[in-house]
Amino acid sequence: MSQIKISGLCAAVVLCFGSYSFAADQNLNADLIVVGAGSAGLSAAVQGAELGKKVILLEKNPYVGGNSQHAEGLFAVDSEWNRLRGDPLTRQEAYRQFIERQNHLVDPYKNKDFVEGSAENIEWLSKHGIEFEVIRETPLKDNTWHIIKNYKGVNHGAGLIKGMKDAADKLGVQTMLATPAVDLIKKDDKVVGVIAKDNKGNTYHISGKAVILASGSFGDDPKKVAEWGHRDPEAWKSSVPINKTGDGIVMAMKAGAERGPVSFIGHLGTEGKGIKFLSNLYGTSWQPFNLWVNRDGLRFTDESQCNAFSEAANAIYAQPGHYGWCIFDENTVKYLMEKGASSGIGVLVPIGTKYANLQKD
Ligand SMILES: Cc1cc2nc3c(=O)[nH]c(=O)nc-3n(C[C@H](O)[C@H](O)[C@H](O)COP(=O)(O)OP(=O)(O)OC[C@H]3O[C@@H](n4cnc5c(N)ncnc54)[C@H](O)[C@@H]3O)c2cc1C
Repeated sequence: MSQIKISGLCAAVVLCFGSYSFAADQNLNADLIVVGAGSAGLSAAVQGAELGKKVILLEKNPYVGGNSQHAEGLFAVDSEWNRLRGDPLTRQEAYRQFIERQNHLVDPYKNKDFVEGSAENIEWLSKHGIEFEVIRETPLKDNTWHIIKNYKGVNHGAGLIKGMKDAADKLGVQTMLATPAVDLIKKDDKVVGVIAKDNKGNTYHISGKAVILASGSFGDDPKKVAEWGHRDPEAWKSSVPINKTGDGIVMAMKAGAERGPVSFIGHLGTEGKGIKFLSNLYGTSWQPFNLWVNRDGLRFTDESQCNAFSEAANAIYAQPGHYGWCIFDENTVKYLMEKGASSGIGVLVPIGTKYANLQKD
């Protein structure tokens, strides 16, 4: 009896020691510290390593990819893939349209860089084994959407992330998962490093010659959505909640940076009892031949706007209560079941998909 008790006690003691860990402070150093392992951060880390730099990549979540792994493709103009198709849009014309569409409310230099350098981004990614297919984002626009078609059997954002992560690993980037950056280290008014903490309570003081903040947006923080974005967080919801709380922006502001204007890209979301994301009923509201009315029963936009889902989101958000109703009839149901969708949901639900479950939905 007593023997059993003693061995039980021993086991308990061993387990106790086994699960005990000491939180510690560690000093690390790198040439380049990148905060955030989405498409921006991973690309920066890969390019830094390609330039021969020692790179530490910090990621808050226990996985890489951020929002980027849910995207479908990238904007680019005059890429090799465009040229093969003979697409006529020039970089200069794309930039002009881009600026006009934003009512000139954007930084012209950054946007010029982005638009006119977009083809080089695609070429760089292609060199890392990522294949593209160019399509129109909507029937109303030019062929600028470079859908990620394949990287080792994986497509869309997940393919791009896999490609970049493979390259980062191969080049010796030190990726630290579940280790968010919590503050920037400053010396003589310059950022000289980052403090990070992992989920075991360890603190890392990382010094570096350069820090790149690529920690994404703040759509999962309702307070910032309201205060920075001037949107009602009850109606303007994050499509993919991955704990995006604008950490990089907060750290930069604390270090003395000034926050510029904030804007959002929305997409049309369909809510209602039993309506599942991307289901046939969800997709029905994205069809151009429906009637959309606001809560006062007034039509408020050209419904073919559904093809440009960001504009559709804005049109709906501008209505009283920030919602509208989509009205359709039996003929529409029959048409979508037999002939298929006239408008897709990105490339996730392609044009022509037959909505076989619509009646049931
Ligand atoms: C469903 C969906 C579809 C989309 N489709 C497209 C599309 O087809 N084409 C397109 O151009 N755009 C699309 N977008 C938008 C696009 O995904 C984003 O603009 C893009 O992913 C932003 O990339 P990023 O690297 O800046 O941020 P993210 O990919 O969000 O990466 C940021 C990373 O930083 C990490 N992080 C945050 N805080 C910290 C911290 N303190 N320390 C360390 N790490 C931190 C996050 O966990 C995350 O991994 C889509 C978005 C969604 C949600």
